Amino acid sequence: MSNAINDPQGLPDVHALEKLANAYFSALPGNYNAADVPSAELLPHSNNQIQENSTFTHSPSAIYQGNAIDLSDPQTSLPDSNGLGLGHVPKSTAGSGGPSGNFNTAKQANNPFNISSLLPFEADQPYEKELQKALASVSSYSPSSQLPFNPSAILSENSYYFSSGIQFVTSADTQNSGRYGNGVVTGKSQPSFNVNLIRNDFPLLSEQVNGKPLIWLDNAATTQKPRQVIDRLNYFYAHENSNIHRAAHELAARSTDAYEGARQKVQRFINARSPNEIVFVRGTTEAINLVANSWGDEYLQQGDEIILTHLEHHANIVPWQLLAKKKGLKIRVIPVDDDGQLLLDEYAKLLNPRTKLVSFTLVSNALGTITPAKQIVAMAHAAGAKVLADGAQSVSHIRTDVQALDADWFVFSGHKVFGPTGIGILYGKEDLLNSTQPYQGGGNMIEDVTFEHTQFHQAPARFEAGTGNIADAVGLGAAIDYVQKIGIDNIYQYEHYLLDYASHKLAQIPGLRPIGTAPDKTSVLSFVLDGFTTAEVGEALSREGIAVRSGHHCAQPILRRFGLEATVRPSLAFYNTCAEVDTLVAVVGGLKSAKQIYFH
Ligand code: PMP
Repeated sequence: MSNAINDPQGLPDVHALEKLANAYFSALPGNYNAADVPSAELLPHSNNQIQENSTFTHSPSAIYQGNAIDLSDPQTSLPDSNGLGLGHVPKSTAGSGGPSGNFNTAKQANNPFNISSLLPFEADQPYEKELQKALASVSSYSPSSQLPFNPSAILSENSYYFSSGIQFVTSADTQNSGRYGNGVVTGKSQPSFNVNLIRNDFPLLSEQVNGKPLIWLDNAATTQKPRQVIDRLNYFYAHENSNIHRAAHELAARSTDAYEGARQKVQRFINARSPNEIVFVRGTTEAINLVANSWGDEYLQQGDEIILTHLEHHANIVPWQLLAKKKGLKIRVIPVDDDGQLLLDEYAKLLNPRTKLVSFTLVSNALGTITPAKQIVAMAHAAGAKVLADGAQSVSHIRTDVQALDADWFVFSGHKVFGPTGIGILYGKEDLLNSTQPYQGGGNMIEDVTFEHTQFHQAPARFEAGTGNIADAVGLGAAIDYVQKIGIDNIYQYEHYLLDYASHKLAQIPGLRPIGTAPDKTSVLSFVLDGFTTAEVGEALSREGIAVRSGHHCAQPILRRFGLEATVRPSLAFYNTCAEVDTLVAVVGGLKSAKQIYFH
């Protein structure tokens, strides 16, 4: 098959590529149609029946064949399969309430099959390898990374994600260039994508609102979910639901594998050293409160100082204020310039031997500013302070590499990265997590309890008291798979162009004042419009089916820095299009003439 891809000069044959790509994408779980798959033999484990009206090709029992946790000896130490010193299976004595601390899934440890290749959500699709090979030859041969952006290419009706008409992200462009100086590494040659096909994966994007097709531009508040995530949640409750780690039965093994598998997906996604550094929490807010109430409460003392930035979301202000009041701490704030960029020289002046923590956002939710994260972390560490990085607004837009960033904690919410609500991540360096007191006490986080004394597990169980949000953790794993299939660098590149396109068009509307004009920005297009309240603009847009946030965005200090109490805030994701931006611009631009109709 791969021979047919290249012509005698070694250049790719566009028709062959198109055919390959069509076959590939029609076989993706969300687009699955049994009739499109040429041969059942090409599917992994094709001995299973394809279920009617189902995206899954595998029976649950086939999926979990050979997958049971060995419960006969809950202390069993297993081979260290990944070289990270994770040698223990969950200690699954019924009702005892806990694993042995460091997790290693039954899947990794005890399974002669590669179970992950059996799960429908995780399996490589037919043609994927051939397609990637073909695309690699295109990107290494093509000088197209130099092509100027052409929005119409993205709006074209090509029936495959990858179009040779669009630019490629090349490693020369972006590889570890520190383009934003933020430890967020972009890179690796990856093809661009066709947004129209991607949109098919998101059922809600086909919704009508007020009689108009929905235009979802409230992505900074939450993102829509692809079918792959929705199906994964459904599958969990239909085939895997059980409490984890605790019981000596098959379903406990399934749910434990699914949950711990999701932890490993997160680990790889953010490039943490070990799954033990990944704690499941409710979201960014809970993660920050966890650090404040565990590490902060244990290690900070009267007179210590915490540095925040003027850009912070309330979730990264209020927990520190509560702690400061309780312990007599001082909070200091890095100011911004009129574009919304942090003033690093002012930051340098704030650092001193009393500084114990710097807590900052990678991307401002109100302005879209990308902060110089790597520099912020390095400066804090040089002053002897710990660093918490809030990735709530960065994680769906720019590559995360926690090792390159070197922050002590990194936090984000699943719902901002196409995953479910009610699940989020606290990453912490392993030694730091293990030398920090727990946040909450209860089942699941203990080694041993007497009425006099409790011995806690190591991380991550140490910080996961009680029954967690198992299904949504699994759903977050599916969201990460989805993002990685598209490629975070492709997402970044596409959104970057879309943001430029939208900023340029909005700026031409008379009376519109953009708020947040830093050169390094992502996703967010805050503005105010002369003669209209932000609520009026939001309502007018909603009448046209356009969802944007208008208000203070839980970031009152930064809006007040610009003399405002509220802005209108359209925010983009990779499934938005230039056509949607055009509609936004037309409605906002037409508001003055429509004022009579709408507001009188
Ligand atoms: N930090 C930032 C930068 C955010 O944008 C948000 C959500 N808007 C949060 C923290 C809080 O996230 P969550 O509500 O999911 O806990």
